[in-house]
Amino acid sequence: MKTQSAIERDATYNFYERFLALEFVTMAIRSINPATQETLQTFQALTKNQLNEKLNRAHEAFRRHRFNTFDERAPTMQRAAEILESEKGTFARLMTLEMGKPINAAVQEAEKCAWVCSYYAENAERHLADEVVETNATKSFVRFQPIGVVLAVMPWNFPFWQVFRFAAPALMAGNIGLLKHASNVPQCALAIEEIFQRAGFADGVFQTLLIGSDAVQSVLDDDRVAAATLTGSEPAGRSVASIAGKQIKKTVLELGGSDPFIVMPSADFEEAVATAVKARTINNGQSCIAAKRFIVHEKIYDEFEKRFVKAMKALRVGDPLEASTDIGPLATDQILTDLDEQVQASVAAGAQLLTGGQRSELTGDLARGNFYEPTVLAGIPPQAPAYRDEIFGPVASLFRVADIDKAIELANATTFGLGAAAWTNDANERKRFINEIESGSVFINGMVASDPRLPFGGVKNSGFGRELSYFGIREFTNIKTVWIKSQ
Ligand code: NAP
Repeated sequence: MKTQSAIERDATYNFYERFLALEFVTMAIRSINPATQETLQTFQALTKNQLNEKLNRAHEAFRRHRFNTFDERAPTMQRAAEILESEKGTFARLMTLEMGKPINAAVQEAEKCAWVCSYYAENAERHLADEVVETNATKSFVRFQPIGVVLAVMPWNFPFWQVFRFAAPALMAGNIGLLKHASNVPQCALAIEEIFQRAGFADGVFQTLLIGSDAVQSVLDDDRVAAATLTGSEPAGRSVASIAGKQIKKTVLELGGSDPFIVMPSADFEEAVATAVKARTINNGQSCIAAKRFIVHEKIYDEFEKRFVKAMKALRVGDPLEASTDIGPLATDQILTDLDEQVQASVAAGAQLLTGGQRSELTGDLARGNFYEPTVLAGIPPQAPAYRDEIFGPVASLFRVADIDKAIELANATTFGLGAAAWTNDANERKRFINEIESGSVFINGMVASDPRLPFGGVKNSGFGRELSYFGIREFTNIKTVWIKSQ
């Protein structure tokens, strides 16, 4: 059995063993503008020595940061919010250049990051306050303590938001953040590290690791790392959770989704159509909680299809730096290739192509960009990719159903269970959607969206654990039971 001092991994921890465990190939990480294919910057991935040094720094930082009070942490987190808010234009441009989201959405993303920092600066203490429980003890209560260094493996699609929604609660709880960001957004990753440093967090409290996914196992296996959170695809989630499981380390997984968007006859039709288009094409269609399958009651289906297709056709595809652009490029050329393959395979399987279905041909500097036409598929058979797989781009799948039973059955006919939207003004239908849809959230007459005040996460293959609200901040804590008998 390990002694307490061994468990606490003090400075005598065997450096050589750890060093040998860090086996991976270092490679270049490139930042490429997806609108033009121009290489913006190239970075060398960390060497084993550099990575080891960063892990040491994180481990050391935890010794101090865990004992800081909320009164000490909160102003620093508030300062991070101020930096985000006052420099949102600069951060937005960086996001748009690296991954192609329309500039207005990028500004909103920076604002939302400021919000989540302020939210946890103001609420962390309340969310983590001791909870007294009456028992046979003189006093018994629950205390929430930080668990240590948390590795965050993050995706490129919301390159700031995904990171801040993890980091703000984690740091406020007294944990340490290590960010392994997606390889196509290294500049965003470094900018985020700098924001926390400038805000005043101590050395090592939040660091970016410029490493490829091949280096993730060595970090997860390392004793200095206590837990991991991954937002990304199902295969990446399976891999990280398996490695962490073997090491008995806690994970939170936020994975893919194929969210249903159900429209019933009693709904506000105009609002439902307008929101449907927005919900599918937000972030160029690359959002885990984008509405992907539109399940429409047969009484209103034909009109819905007509109006939806017209609105999709009217969207402006173009330079994401221009404020009037609705849809920018897909983040990488591989994503465009994969998306087009899914569309073509669905059509080959019998789906009807109502609009789009090919690259957008733009001119000038944008001619080489990863642009795809807003696309609508209907009459999709169960064997088509558009029926069963996640479609990550501006491609909508329409389904006609006879009644609410069929709508719920189809909504649940997926391995995913992230979010769901249902449009109805019938109280009984609303009750059924809330109770019977298998997902981490249900939005009635609205678009699925994350909000710092509400928990966010999925069921089934969309993952487990929750981010945001008090549920999120407690994920990476030791929920310690304290039982005291006194005279
Ligand atoms: P991805 O390929 O899984 O990448 C996400 C992150 O995981 C990146 O940092 C990536 O690093 C890393 N990664 C990939 N394979 C790995 C492995 N085997 N071991 C360890 N790390 C690995 O996903 P993506 O294409 O960037 O993002 C799109 C997916 O994320 C979609 O499925 C989307 O639905 C999902 N998503 C979910 C949520 C949510 O909250 N539920 C939010 C946003 C996105 P490299 O870049 O170096 O490969």
